[in-house]
This record gives sequence, structure tokens and C-alpha cells, in this order.
Amino acid sequence: MSTPGTEREVRTRIAPSPTGDPHVGTAYAALFNLAFARRHGGQFILRIEDTDRTRYVEGSEQQVFDTLHWLGFGWDQGPDVGGEAAPYRQSERLPTYREVAERLLAAGHAYHCWCSSERLTQMRNRQQQLKMPTGYDRMCYGKTREERAELPGFTETPVIRMLVPDEARISFTDLIRGEITPPQPDDQVLLKADGFPTYHLAVVVDDNAMGVTHVIRGEEWISSTAKHLLLYGWLGWPVPVYAHMPLLRNVDRSKISKRKNPAARLKWFQEEGYLPEALVNFLALMGYSMPDGREIFTFDEVVESFDFARVNPVGPVFDIDKLNWLNGHYLRALGDEEFLRAAEPFLPAGLGVDDVRTLVVPLRERTKKLSELADQLDWLAADAVEILPADLAKHGLPPADARTALEAFAKNLEQLDPFEPAQITPTLDRVVGELGLNRRRSFMTARLALVGKPVSPPLDDTMAALGAARTADRLRQAAAGLPS
Ligand code: GLU
Repeated sequence: MSTPGTEREVRTRIAPSPTGDPHVGTAYAALFNLAFARRHGGQFILRIEDTDRTRYVEGSEQQVFDTLHWLGFGWDQGPDVGGEAAPYRQSERLPTYREVAERLLAAGHAYHCWCSSERLTQMRNRQQQLKMPTGYDRMCYGKTREERAELPGFTETPVIRMLVPDEARISFTDLIRGEITPPQPDDQVLLKADGFPTYHLAVVVDDNAMGVTHVIRGEEWISSTAKHLLLYGWLGWPVPVYAHMPLLRNVDRSKISKRKNPAARLKWFQEEGYLPEALVNFLALMGYSMPDGREIFTFDEVVESFDFARVNPVGPVFDIDKLNWLNGHYLRALGDEEFLRAAEPFLPAGLGVDDVRTLVVPLRERTKKLSELADQLDWLAADAVEILPADLAKHGLPPADARTALEAFAKNLEQLDPFEPAQITPTLDRVVGELGLNRRRSFMTARLALVGKPVSPPLDDTMAALGAARTADRLRQAAAGLPS
């Protein structure tokens, strides 16, 4: 069955607000809006909803562009690339919102409201105390300015509110959820006293001006859709098709918020060293499933198979273990140079790509996210490391044997030329054989001497990365520090 609305040229959009670090929900919405538009050969639009001046954060618009580009997402129209439906920032469209609000006033679908914010707070508190539904009580409705000015709680500059008919009973068919009847809306403010529209007026005016055919957004907007549908009806504009995506949830099922979960910030994924392909795959898995049930797939494969029938409306849990697993998979698929390039920003201070080139294979095998490299490579960046007696007791040789082994390793390794893994392991094996010591415990003792902890890349690679001089030096230092 074909998706409603796709007989026209499909246009989708995201409309993030520049209110700080971009939210992971923005990437999630972008992914599905872009996939659907691409699937149908349509256009994807980026619009900035900057009408809430109190929450505006300088620079966050650019961060939205940058993080979406990092994920490999581009848009056909937007504030940075332009387009026929410009402007793409709501603050640049203010006269249009006012005109539309005036038109609704003239047609009797909206009215002025002069209530002060103190009065509105009192009204809400009273409604809550009485356990009544909260919503504007229409004190100003049907009154002239002069009439209203006689009454308490009056302010000079009015807002414009929509006049929601009693028992409006708006319903619509959602592409993911089927028939929905949201709760009865209240008389929502459309135009604020500062002349800026509210989200509800702006979103309808913009989606109409931009020819948006499908509104794909989070389920938290379902109740707003009732208000938007009233506006479309009054204005005589074509109504878009709606698809409300499931909300991403924390493990405790609460909504992902920047306050509770660092992963709500898109930049967190960059900081932790996740690859964009892994994050896109992960976000797609949150709600979408491939026809063959595969869990690893590319964005292009989402596009090819995209169908809202395969979006699960039940809020997916943000499972970081799954993301780590996916990211490990994508890291292992990188070539040596690609891996090193991706790893470079995560190397401990003082180390460059050339210092870790010989370790690329074991690092790639073991890393789930690139931020782990700081810990995995601290021994290489450090000037010296220390053996903890507890580690030696648990993994290594008894102190007297340990000293003998470390000194013998140092002496024999120093003579190696070239100092490479292919020569290192046979040398270590020979020394252990000559001394008649336990191989595993001898190697572990050397590892503790070089790395200071019982985990590291294979010993020969570890030694090769340190180089002959530093290896011999650390082995001797460790031997000297052992209790006799
Ligand atoms: N500004 C809203 C947001 O950031 C847009 C909601 C919508 O897509 O209508 O989620």
C-alpha cells in the first residue's frame, strides 16, 4: 500500500530550536525525515525555530548544522543553503505571523487577551486546587480593551489567542499510530506580546509556506497537532500527513533529557568516540526494523526499505551497551589509516598517530569507543609506570624470579636489531625456557613492568611501540624496585 501524501512531491522537515547543545532527538528526527524524503525522491528542509527569545543560545544554530553534517546528513533547503521558501529562520518571518494572526482575529477564530502573567498564574493555581482542567478561562473573550481594563490583572500589550470551539473533537490518522483523537485543546496563545509567534502559529505558517507534505516528529507533539489542525482548517490550507515517532527513553522509561542523561547531547557521542555510522545505525534501530531483521545496516539501506509500517510506536530504550557493540563493529571495519585518523583526537597528550601505528591491529580489535584509548595507551604516553604489589602477586612471578626474568629480558632484548614483534616473542620464549620459569607469569610480569596494569595489547606489540631503549629501561627499573 502506498503511503498517503506521496502522490505529491514529498517534503519533510526538522525544526530544531537553537537553545543550546543539539539534542539527540534532533538527529533522530532528521534521520527519519531524511530517509522518508529520500525514499520518495522528495526534499528535506532544515528550519530554525528561534521564536523563544528567552531560550535562545548564540552559536547553537551552527552546532546543529555541524553535528548533523558529522552524521552525514544534508538538507535541500535551509538557512545556510537557501531555497525557494526562504527565510528558514522564524525570527525573519515575523510580519507573516502577525498577518495570519490578524486574519484569524478578523474571521472570529482568535481574540485579544490582556491578562497579566500574575493573573494567569493565579488562575492556573486555582484550577489546580479545584482539580479542574487547566486552560485559559476566557476572561478577555468578547471584551473590548476598555471593558477589560476595568477588571483586575490587566496589561497594556495584548496577546492573540485562538478561540477553540467547545467539544472540538479533532482527530487525525497518524502514519505510525493510526486514528488519534488528542485531548481538547485550550485557547492557545498564537502571537505573544513581544510580537513573536508561539510555536503553534509558527509551525503551521511555516509548514504551509514550505509546502511540507509530511510532518514527522516526536510523539510529545501529538496533543499540539489538534491545535494545528484547527488552524489549517480556519486558514483553508492543505493539511500535511502526520507521523509521530516514539520518544527515546532512558532505561527507567523516562524521556531522555540533557539533565538526566549525558547521551541526550549529540556532542556527547563525538566526545566519547562513537563513529557517525554507528550512531546513525543505532538511532535507526530505535524504533525501526529492517525487513530481514538485520541489526547492522547503513543509512542508504534504511532509505531503500523505508516504510512507516516498520516503525514500532513503543518508546525504544536507549541501550548504550547496544551502541557500544555496534560501534565496536564499525571500528573493526575501518582500514588501518582510517582507524588512526579517527583515533587521533583521542590519543593521550603527547602521542601522535605514528607512535601508535604498530598497535593499530590490537587497538582496533579491543576498542568499543575511541575515548577508551586514553586509558588503553596511558602507559605509552607516561614517562614511567609502577607495578602494584597486588597485581604482581595475582598475575606475576614471585619477586625473586620476577627480578631475574626482568633483568634477563632487558639484557636479551637490548641486543635485538631490528626490534620488531617477529623477533621479540622468540627472544622472550628463549629466555623463559633458559630460566625454566612459567611463561604466562613471566610475560605478565613484563607486562606489569611496561604498562603498570595487567591488560595491554600483546606483549610483543607493546614492546615494539615503546622501542628497545624504553622497554629495557622499564624492565630494569621494575626489577630494581622489587622487594628482595
Ligand atoms: N521546535 C520543535 C522541536 O524542537 C519542532 C517540533 C515539530 O517538529 O513540529 O522539536
